[in-house]
Amino acid sequence: MTAFWTEPDFDDHEMVELVRDPRSGLTAIIALHSTHLGPGAGGTRFWHYADPKDAMRDALRLSRGMSYKNAMAGLPMGGGKAVILADKARTKTPELLAAFADAVQALGGRYVTAEDVGISEADMAKVAERTQFVSGLPVKGEHAAGGDPGPFTAMGIYHGIKAAVRHKLGREDLDGVHIAIQGTGSVGGGVARLLAKDGARLTMSDINEERNAALASELDADVASPDAIMSVHCDVFSPNALGAILDDAGIARLDCQIVAGAANNQLARQGHGDKLFERGILYAPDYVINAGGIISVTLEYLCREKGQPCDINEVRKRIAQIPGRLEEIWQESASTGVSPDRVADRMAQNLIGR
Ligand code: NAD
Repeated sequence: MTAFWTEPDFDDHEMVELVRDPRSGLTAIIALHSTHLGPGAGGTRFWHYADPKDAMRDALRLSRGMSYKNAMAGLPMGGGKAVILADKARTKTPELLAAFADAVQALGGRYVTAEDVGISEADMAKVAERTQFVSGLPVKGEHAAGGDPGPFTAMGIYHGIKAAVRHKLGREDLDGVHIAIQGTGSVGGGVARLLAKDGARLTMSDINEERNAALASELDADVASPDAIMSVHCDVFSPNALGAILDDAGIARLDCQIVAGAANNQLARQGHGDKLFERGILYAPDYVINAGGIISVTLEYLCREKGQPCDINEVRKRIAQIPGRLEEIWQESASTGVSPDRVADRMAQNLIGR
């Protein structure tokens, strides 16, 4: 068996912990990539992995991604991620969540958790019964920040698309700008609504065709099939569904000037950022543009720690800073001839002292 620290995804992670609790059936990995800027913050994924190696890979890659995302969002947090290895039936019991919460608590605040794929707000509320190192909890009060990060991520994507349109197309408004949206779930649906208000022309796609068609009809948008959305002739392609869609074949299909969306790990490999750059397509690095959710979750956590209410306007103000960071990346990319994803990685590594 090869040791995980010889795997390509191991990047001098500060800590990788295997958590086992036979009584509840819990097997989890908690990975802390960097705590240079603060406690490692990042959600918990609950997923059935056919091969446990993939769980380790996820924990390593996603925790590093969180280090970069938090640093670039100017948050006083490092990067961490937890992965719970679910059984085939994805059995999630209160005992299993309690055992996981105890493992988070035992780290004494070095890791702060929240929702990720397979974990709901209600699950996090259960975890919060046994540890204070948790965020993304149900919101109390009209102007209080926190809860489901999806709408905050959507807000950041909307600001980021506007910045990209300004940078690439020299336009201050979105009136008639054609945007193709892949995935109209929690984030993509929110992005579509915000863009429609500004008069953008939308083409939308989702494998949940019924829900997508209903939203398209409400927003007076066109619909494309999941197979066709990436080749729609448009100004902006906004991926809000799956990762790794920007591979050789995916990039060859694009007929747009900008790629800007929420999906994590959009580039199949780093070289694919170079390919977009060579084709003259402006790319908004995913972990920079999609930081709205983690901004909300983190400010909620920091306010709770201080025993203060968290003002939603502060969250909005921070999210409105995402375009400034993107502009900085694009300008450096233009002046150095290095693709925006590489520029962003370098900036993030500098911020975390690597
Ligand atoms: P979601 O599950 O609510 O929405 C995803 C949508 O994509 C679903 O409606 C699904 O049917 C659709 N979809 C799946 N495969 C598709 C395909 N081949 N073609 C078209 N549509 C497809 O998830 P979400 O919370 O909206 O997140 C969307 C993406 O953004 C994910 O990659 C997620 O990791 C990333 N992200 C989300 C947040 C957040 O705050 N929710 C934050 C950062 C990044």
